[in-house]
Amino acid sequence: MSDPSNLIREALGAIAKASTEGELETITLDYLGRKSGQITKLLTGIGQLAPAQRAALGQSANEAKRAIEAALANRRAELEGARLADIAETEAIDVTFPGPPLGRGHVHVLTQVQRQIETVLESLGYKVELGPEVETEWYNFEALNISAGHPARENWDSFYFTPQLLLRAHTSPVQIRAMQRLKEPPIYIITPGRCYRRDAPEATRLPYFSQVEGLAVDRGLTVGDMKGTLLYMIQSLYGSERKVRVRPSYFPFTEPSFEFDVSCGICGGAGCKSCRHKGWLEVGGCGMVHPQVLRNGGIDPEKWNGYAWGFGIERMAMLKHDVDDIRLLYESDLRFLEQF
Ligand SMILES: [Zn+2]
Repeated sequence: MSDPSNLIREALGAIAKASTEGELETITLDYLGRKSGQITKLLTGIGQLAPAQRAALGQSANEAKRAIEAALANRRAELEGARLADIAETEAIDVTFPGPPLGRGHVHVLTQVQRQIETVLESLGYKVELGPEVETEWYNFEALNISAGHPARENWDSFYFTPQLLLRAHTSPVQIRAMQRLKEPPIYIITPGRCYRRDAPEATRLPYFSQVEGLAVDRGLTVGDMKGTLLYMIQSLYGSERKVRVRPSYFPFTEPSFEFDVSCGICGGAGCKSCRHKGWLEVGGCGMVHPQVLRNGGIDPEKWNGYAWGFGIERMAMLKHDVDDIRLLYESDLRFLEQF
């Protein structure tokens, strides 16, 4: 029959070497198993001993059993601690840690640019005026001095609901509506909004786009006032190194009329590929309001005069961010939009 103290020594040695839960399980069965565990056998063999020996062996066998159980429990705790430390090291997952925040959207680049334009002009005293996108022919054409059959109608061809009702081709009708509503100058307004034209989508134009127009009606306004206002707006948006210029042009609703250019931001006006070696980029049109347009808005051109301009917001955003295809602004591709 085995000696309990030898069994303890053997068992503790095996437990100390065990490195997995499975090995500890085998050791438990070897020593404490119900049927063939060595301590169990020792205890069941006690009955065959002489009464004088029973008590002493029974006590030492039970002590051995408790010592082995305690050693197993300690080793189990050690292995579990090491396992958790290992997981913390290799997986580094803390299930109590808050999840990553959900991605947030932001204002579209066209809205950003529109708001910047509004902020700059509001600082000069201009007020934002809005109007309907479905317009009558009179507001879209006649009121702006583009009579029926006028060849200029080609440039502002739009989509008709009825012969007299169409999607507005520019935000200029809002200028007429504002003059009619406000009646008495001085009037300083800007008219941001969506417009429509019968154009096929390509790199520089779309059948829908956004405009911001400005209108000032006061006493004794000059081309210089207009140019100064636009210079201030351009430099606020694009930087103080930018220059502006006006070139003679023709629009039915202004007299005189101008094309409005801003110096190229890439070459500083020297000429490069981006500005087609002109040094200047076209932004839009402008001019002194035609007396007949003032009359159509209910303003007396003998007492008042005014200037107006119309720029495409897409064009202004493209110039600001060096975007070379207008369609990108409407394709909702997050790889593009997240850059702004
Ligand atoms: Zn250039």
